[in-house]
Amino acid sequence: MKLPRTVAVLATATLVATTLTATATADDRRDRPGRGPERDAGAVGATSFAELARTAQRSGPGSGTTNGTNNTSGTSGAIDMPRAYPFQPDLTVYPPADDDATDLNGTIGYDEIAPRLTALMASSDRVSTQVVGRSTAGRDLYLVTVTAPESRRETAQQTAWRDEIRTDPGDAARDRRLARDYKTPLWISANIHGNEWEGTDAAMQVVQDLATSDDRATAALLEDHRFYFSLTLNPDGRTIGQRATSLSLDANRDMITGATPESRSFVSTAQALQPLYAADFHGYTGVLQVEPCGPPHGQNYEYDLFIPHGYAIARQVEDDVVAAEIPGNTYYDPATDDAVDENTGFIKIPYRDTPSGWDDYPPVFTAQYAAFHGATTSTVELPKGRTGPTTTPEDAVINTAVAKRTMTSMIDYLAGHDDAMLADQVESFRRGVAGEPKDALTVDDVAAVPGPDEWKQHWDVVDDQDPVDLPRAYVIPVGDGQRSAADAEALVDQLLFHGVEVGTLTRSTRVDGTTYPKGSFVVDLHQPLRGLANALLDLGTDISAKVPSMYDISAWSLSSLWGATVEKVGSTTDRPVGAVKPLRGEPSDGGIPRLAAYVAFDVAGVEDYRALNALLEADAPVWWLDDGRAVVGPKGLRAARDVAKEHDVPFETATWRDLRELRDAPELDDLTVAYAGNQDDLLSLTELGFDDLVRVTAAGIEAGAATGTTGLEDADVLWVGSALTLPAGSAGRSAVQDWVDDGGSVVGRTAAAFAVAETYGLVEGEAVTGNRSGNGIVDVSTPAGSILAPHEQDHAFVYPATWFTGLGEGTTVEQTYDAERPFLAGHWVPTGSGADGPAASAGQASVVSGEAESGARAVVFGTSVFFRTHPKGGLGQAAQALFWATSGD
Ligand SMILES: [Zn+2]
Repeated sequence: MKLPRTVAVLATATLVATTLTATATADDRRDRPGRGPERDAGAVGATSFAELARTAQRSGPGSGTTNGTNNTSGTSGAIDMPRAYPFQPDLTVYPPADDDATDLNGTIGYDEIAPRLTALMASSDRVSTQVVGRSTAGRDLYLVTVTAPESRRETAQQTAWRDEIRTDPGDAARDRRLARDYKTPLWISANIHGNEWEGTDAAMQVVQDLATSDDRATAALLEDHRFYFSLTLNPDGRTIGQRATSLSLDANRDMITGATPESRSFVSTAQALQPLYAADFHGYTGVLQVEPCGPPHGQNYEYDLFIPHGYAIARQVEDDVVAAEIPGNTYYDPATDDAVDENTGFIKIPYRDTPSGWDDYPPVFTAQYAAFHGATTSTVELPKGRTGPTTTPEDAVINTAVAKRTMTSMIDYLAGHDDAMLADQVESFRRGVAGEPKDALTVDDVAAVPGPDEWKQHWDVVDDQDPVDLPRAYVIPVGDGQRSAADAEALVDQLLFHGVEVGTLTRSTRVDGTTYPKGSFVVDLHQPLRGLANALLDLGTDISAKVPSMYDISAWSLSSLWGATVEKVGSTTDRPVGAVKPLRGEPSDGGIPRLAAYVAFDVAGVEDYRALNALLEADAPVWWLDDGRAVVGPKGLRAARDVAKEHDVPFETATWRDLRELRDAPELDDLTVAYAGNQDDLLSLTELGFDDLVRVTAAGIEAGAATGTTGLEDADVLWVGSALTLPAGSAGRSAVQDWVDDGGSVVGRTAAAFAVAETYGLVEGEAVTGNRSGNGIVDVSTPAGSILAPHEQDHAFVYPATWFTGLGEGTTVEQTYDAERPFLAGHWVPTGSGADGPAASAGQASVVSGEAESGARAVVFGTSVFFRTHPKGGLGQAAQALFWATSGD
């Protein structure tokens, strides 16, 4: 079920929150660490989409810190964990929402969750609740823990063991007390897609059962384990009745990028919990579906440690759910690949039943992401689908019962196999720390894999996983060898956020013939989370030949797409690259020289464009030099000082050469950008610091043409991210033409932007779009003199690729797809004659520009520069184009 590319209308009800005081008495809270937070409704009152976009940019990862918790790992993404259990703070209570989608199917409304948890906490010392972030619209994200009470000392011991497992797996493997007393964690994420509701209801029931059962078995279970429940990671979508967050982003595609506070909360929680097993509940596929996935499997998993219990858990769920004979439930018919009413004895397990199209290749999904923190994981799809806006109340009851049985089955499995699963987790971290060559489950060793072996009969794709040549390290240079210092720092921040260890060279060091300056960043792959580190940084592989189709993106490399220069060096068995000290906090190099009248900075990365926009917003005089640097005049020094601090920009004194160039250099304007597009356009432009944004549509332009209210009136430039078609002879078309003739420029992406630029006389040619499901990383070249030449980039993301042919005389090629091998990594196969495959794009223009006599300019990208806001290097190029297009004579 793909994300519909529409911008949702946010429910504008202002939610006024109140704080409910817990009614529990103190005597059953002997380890209760402290009161919870008092907080206002915050962003819940935000009513405009643009306002939400800015709020989403501001809110940090893992927000929601509370008293009585401690930040245990010191990385920027960490959340605070309780110092003892139970942890029972006062929870903010939200008022009922108007038109709450849950009213239609009888599932739990978001507003009901806090009162229920409060009541449960009041009656049970087994239940704890943390707030581990806030949704886009400002609703608290709850993490509920069910476990036997722990003293501070006991919790500290559990924390120490958890860290020992990751950072010192050799000792952990021999630690008998750990093996006996570590409370092995299981984590259920119930509702990250808003309109897939019933996981939340099932999780609440499981929490309630665990909290209130007075049998000995439950007590023993809670002595041995911690059970964590993320009740809903998308409360806005749950309430509105939509899959996406209230910014129309799919949080379950966002684990790498972290564009949503919802996904950032998940990432932080995965680090904090380090679960042995994690499941993520969804719907609806007609019949219960429990992963593991079909091929191709991601190359960076320790798949031989993942698949034995992963498949066995799915089989256990199958047995239990089938035996439960839940009234109204459906079953899988392997003969027809259909859901049927009679009990066939099967649910659907993609690993066994789906040869292509339901894979675990990209780590953008919750379950696939959590696996990189040492967990066996599954995505669960509930059976009964929506009829109308929601499931029916009857079907919601069925789904809830199926979800509940699935969760209890998982708990049972963990309880029965936690020693073996813990050993596997320890082993996965051990391989990382030791830097072992990674060859398991790539070609031949299937028979020797220990553990449950039911999966082996289905492993009929022995060459499914390509062997991975793990490097010794990735080096992110500083100094002249770095394309963008700002993008490099953003990349390092992102790695730290994910819990990846990063160090810096303590002195200038020569590696593989290149000398890297002191301070260059090093990601040594001898580390516990090496799979995650390599998944984030490696280029990936062209997997087009492996399967006919993929479920989602098939390449994402932050090394290739985030604008920073990153070098992959050595082999995992090599010696360390040099003397490196661990980086504790986020890197910083901002500042402004004293006594300078004119200061300059390099405008190369996303943060630089944010800084540039902040300077222009503050009316600072800024000129743009040919080499891609900007100079700020004396009247802008105060603003520059603020920007240096706020955006961590290292300003330098402008040289006499710079000052001589100022006479001919364009002075930049604070741009008003009209845009036609979706959430990717809005969020990317917002992230770049363009804050004067006006959304336009064809209908709006047509309607406003007569009265001069098209939305273009005050705009310097029109960004086109989606179709903006006005019929020839229409008033709207004339209005846009008048605006272009008056100097208005057009910049955008896809064939839609080319069509607009061509319609209004700015470019000439044909736009050809490749197979629309083709996606990945392409090799691009930048001709000398291109507007993209300052700070040029060698790679881009496409989904799909568009190229431009038959160009008219006035249309200039600014970038091309590589003539020999344009497609480097991902999945892109041609259909039919092959005219939409990678070979057809070879050597063709990927970016073009044009200019009219009026001074209006156009730049059109055939690459997907704003895709889910993911390719940060693309964002920088788009900003470069926007400023070029508006700085003509
Ligand atoms: Zn889903």
